[in-house]
Amino acid sequence: MQRTRSEQLYAQAKTTMPGGVNSPVRAFNSVGGQPLFIERGSGPYLYDADGNRYIDYVMSWGPLILGHAHREVTAALKNAIDRGTSYGAPTKREIDLAELVCEMVPSIDTVRFVNSGTEATMGVIRLARAATGRDQIIKFSGCYHGHPDALLVKAGSGVATLGLPDSPGVPEGATRDTLIADYNDLDSVRTLFDANPGTIAGVILEPVAGNMGVVPPADGFLHGLRQLTSAHGALLIFDEVMTGFRVDRGGAQALYGVTPDLTTLGKIIGGGLPVGAYGGRSDLMSLVAPAGPMYQAGTLSGNPLAMTAGLTTLQILQRPGVLEKIIGQAERLCRGIGEAAAAAGRTIYQTRVGTMFCTYFTAAQVTDWESASAANTEAFAKFFNAMLTRGVYLAPSQYEAGFTSLMHTNEIIDQTIEAAVEAFRE
Ligand SMILES: *Cc1c(COP(=O)(O)O)cnc(C)c1O
Repeated sequence: MQRTRSEQLYAQAKTTMPGGVNSPVRAFNSVGGQPLFIERGSGPYLYDADGNRYIDYVMSWGPLILGHAHREVTAALKNAIDRGTSYGAPTKREIDLAELVCEMVPSIDTVRFVNSGTEATMGVIRLARAATGRDQIIKFSGCYHGHPDALLVKAGSGVATLGLPDSPGVPEGATRDTLIADYNDLDSVRTLFDANPGTIAGVILEPVAGNMGVVPPADGFLHGLRQLTSAHGALLIFDEVMTGFRVDRGGAQALYGVTPDLTTLGKIIGGGLPVGAYGGRSDLMSLVAPAGPMYQAGTLSGNPLAMTAGLTTLQILQRPGVLEKIIGQAERLCRGIGEAAAAAGRTIYQTRVGTMFCTYFTAAQVTDWESASAANTEAFAKFFNAMLTRGVYLAPSQYEAGFTSLMHTNEIIDQTIEAAVEAFRE
């Protein structure tokens, strides 16, 4: 497989952009390779600058649940673009998307659109602090919430893949009020509440952790957090930037039947364009300016193209059977990968929730960051490269989730499994 053109572009990119990429994990650092430069995407496929075709399980890191360049999304965007790209004034399309989000996600009464998941978590933390008059936030080791200073502590894949404990440049003061608990460990949360009475504003987590591979919540974990936060007058915040509309139409909160006070969204809600959102109980959301005093703003927020792509994507996901089909394909894939590993005598630990999946190269169960970080990243890197050579594009890190889309048909899944059979043998 020829990759000369990608190699040339990478060298060129590095002269004008730090590390040659605009988001770190893209650089393939942890799998010992060079990033592919992409020409175009179509359905389940990516095409690189050398003309190679890959079955894609990154799907732009989650947003493209309908596949690349979905016909209806593209048509809606073409129609929208002729009416201008941004107005900095309200539009009906924002109402349409807001209404659909409020209908689909159980805990969301009202919603604020922003431009990225990072912006959403930054806003939601400010809101939790404004609403409670408290400063401390509990987050979990291995959960990623974008890169607001306060949340860039023990933040899973991106930082861990680079071997950075945490990022330099984050002042101590910015993380002084960030407390760290262990995922799936209610006692670690209880201890923090007991040690800090009356000062914890909220607990933020990925209700299915998707930035240390894929770690499902243990039985009772989310319910336990709901009880603990309520008992201590703190807010429960689900970061559903990844899980929203992907593990269930109503997100992880619908799947597990736990109602958070506030929720962040991103990725799928923008249908492949840059969007984030935060929402929740209307008494809390009414604190957000201009309804209330908590300031948060954005020049491009509610962008008409992003709203159009998000709205079209969610409307398609609402159709009967669509999400079920995508989940079914993820099941089929995981079953096949499991059988392929067993046939080759390889030990792996697989996890899947809805359309998110991960293959850990470890024998032990993965339930938190500690057990996830015990995985054999060298074995993963070999598997990754063996799959890439066979035309399958997995996320270039052991600690990222894989995603299926509506375009991953049985045939595509079976081709992937055949590649896995050979890759495990190799
Ligand atoms: C991707 C992600 C974010 C950050 O979103 P960006 O749009 O990359 O800023 C936040 N939280 C979770 C759970 C994510 O998966």
